[in-house]
Amino acid sequence: MKCHICSQESSSFVDEKSSIKYYHCVACQYIFKSPEHHQDFSTQKERYNFHENDENDEGYQAYFKRFLDFTLPLVNKPKTALDFGCGRSSLLSTLLEKEGMNCDYYDPIYHPSTSDDSKKYELIVSTEVFEHLHQPREVFESLLKRLEEGGYLALQTQFHPNDTEAFKKWYYHQDPTHIVFFTAQTFRVLCEIYGCEFVGDNGKNMLVIKKKLLH
Ligand SMILES: [Zn+2]
Repeated sequence: MKCHICSQESSSFVDEKSSIKYYHCVACQYIFKSPEHHQDFSTQKERYNFHENDENDEGYQAYFKRFLDFTLPLVNKPKTALDFGCGRSSLLSTLLEKEGMNCDYYDPIYHPSTSDDSKKYELIVSTEVFEHLHQPREVFESLLKRLEEGGYLALQTQFHPNDTEAFKKWYYHQDPTHIVFFTAQTFRVLCEIYGCEFVGDNGKNMLVIKKKLLH
């Protein structure tokens, strides 16, 4: 199977506990579940309804604060932002508004019609979304199109350990809605493909990318 990110040939392994087959690309470190384990939209929606995102929950606020503490120093004070795949809650966009941004939010399940596809932003954030995507490269490309020149894309998804045995023990892929897995290297390769600047990552689960200015 060819890697869906960089088109190199990937190798495969089976997690004995779940019998799920995974494909692992050595070149860009992308790992994806065999396509029969990709879920349709209604199954995913049922699962998401179990996620209780209570906006008043202190843990949830602290979780976004960690993301903003990493992201905001790297993104040059944007005035407009989009939270892509916000889930049920618009808490992150509220926090971005408090930082002086005009923030829209979009979620294909909970807030499908709240954003205008042609509008461009200086910052797009997307937390715990990419691991759910059937076509992450295509979504990455579509988000770049929605950024202003010189704008920033800030993502959060857990980086996998890039080691087969450690991966099998890792909790993150055991959620059936998590189907694709990345490291910072995967996003560095995407930046090369699309001519973006890789600004930085935290070595764990967060990264920032810059869309280059046109000369
Ligand atoms: Zn690859």
